[in-house]
Amino acid sequence: MNLQDIDVAVIGAGPAGLAAAIKAKESGADNVVIMERAEQLGGLLHQCVHNGFGLFYFNEDLTGPEYAHRFIEKAMDTGVESLLETMVTGITPERQIKAVNRESGYVSINPRSIVLAMGCRERARGAIGIPGTRPSGIFTAGTAQRFVNVEGYIPGKKVVILGSGDIGMIMARRLTLEGVKVEAVLEILPYTGGLIRNEVQCLHDFDIPLFLKHTVTGIHGEQRLEAVTVARVDDNNTPVAGTERDIECDTLLLSVGLIPENELSQMAGVQLDKVTGGPVVDESRQTSVPGIFAGGNVVHVHDLVDNVSFESELAGESAARFACGFPVAETKIKLKAGNNIRYVVPQTISGLDGVTLYMRVSNMEENVRLRIGNVLTRALRVVKPSEMLKVEISKEQLKKVEGVKEITISCDKREQK
Ligand SMILES: Cc1cc2nc3c(=O)[nH]c(=O)nc-3n(C[C@H](O)[C@H](O)[C@H](O)COP(=O)(O)OP(=O)(O)OC[C@H]3O[C@@H](n4cnc5c(N)ncnc54)[C@H](O)[C@@H]3O)c2cc1C
Repeated sequence: MNLQDIDVAVIGAGPAGLAAAIKAKESGADNVVIMERAEQLGGLLHQCVHNGFGLFYFNEDLTGPEYAHRFIEKAMDTGVESLLETMVTGITPERQIKAVNRESGYVSINPRSIVLAMGCRERARGAIGIPGTRPSGIFTAGTAQRFVNVEGYIPGKKVVILGSGDIGMIMARRLTLEGVKVEAVLEILPYTGGLIRNEVQCLHDFDIPLFLKHTVTGIHGEQRLEAVTVARVDDNNTPVAGTERDIECDTLLLSVGLIPENELSQMAGVQLDKVTGGPVVDESRQTSVPGIFAGGNVVHVHDLVDNVSFESELAGESAARFACGFPVAETKIKLKAGNNIRYVVPQTISGLDGVTLYMRVSNMEENVRLRIGNVLTRALRVVKPSEMLKVEISKEQLKKVEGVKEITISCDKREQK
């Protein structure tokens, strides 16, 4: 591999990086390289041994490793190169990448374009500030997933899970199947933080107790966790005095949110969206720095890997176009999050071509109408922050907004007849 003549460099070899690299190659970029700090391609999918992946992309029900394998094979077949065990430590706005690995030591490359695909990380105890002692036995749900599914360790015998994100609910089922007693899943909100399918298949089907509007207010134990104090919360998420009780357990798993990994993006001078925590991107997935594109969880946290692949293909194709000297469509229309819309990706569009919008609402609501400016409206029975909304808009529909500079997207309560 000639590192001094790279068309597209992709940082991260999860489903986002793989999809982007394959598409870049298919779109005409000659030299495409993926840089990955782990020892293998595939990202987090290796530890997701349950099924439910690929229902939309392949129209099949695959496990995480099976889904990853399809992309890894295709990457090999299309001639994508990879630098494994290579940690990218810096990117400049001029698209210089600095990295280190055991074989070459310090590596510096200047690709024609870059795709950011570093994924996200989990929020840990420090991010939510639970008072109490600091015993062992407190893990993020993803760490426990890796212990069980990759390294073959069971983290404990009696577990409490704080947060009902998808990883937390999936781990509740996984640990139950391994003979661990899951005492409770606690969620501070009045509804679960993950997909409805996971609430049904991982909690209800296994009779795992779910306590909504509850949180952990105390940690007990010196060497190893011995118990947690839990309490009901009021409408301001403040623990209600007198509702506290202790649950004996040796393990507490935290499933309290994911944060896009954007330290490198910041070094490159990429503008970040305060709400998503990821880069502001246009419909081609170009960031605010020309020639730097982004896809997958680094842009915004996805609940379905299939959408990670679809979105990152756009980033890969655009990165190849940029590297080959073709112009990237200028974006002129800003998409603004209105009533009950937390964010919209992409944040800007050209209005010249059909586009798929990804959105999350701020609050759960029933019987609503999603309104995308005067482009389209859609009646929805229920919306939930944890279920991403995906809406395709055609080129024809976008003709209605010719000359417009901003489109507001809102999700309003529907009048019931
Ligand atoms: C802990 C955890 C568990 C999850 N479990 C599930 C699940 O069970 N089911 C489900 O549907 N979804 C799950 N997800 C969501 C899942 O991660 C996404 O759907 C998908 O993996 C996102 O793809 P990605 O390529 O954007 O990120 P990732 O799969 O996270 O890939 C990012 C890659 O970038 C690499 N990287 C990051 N920084 C650098 C750097 N500086 N240099 C080099 N390489 C770097 C990482 O090593 C990683 O391989 C989980 C997410 C997390 C965080």
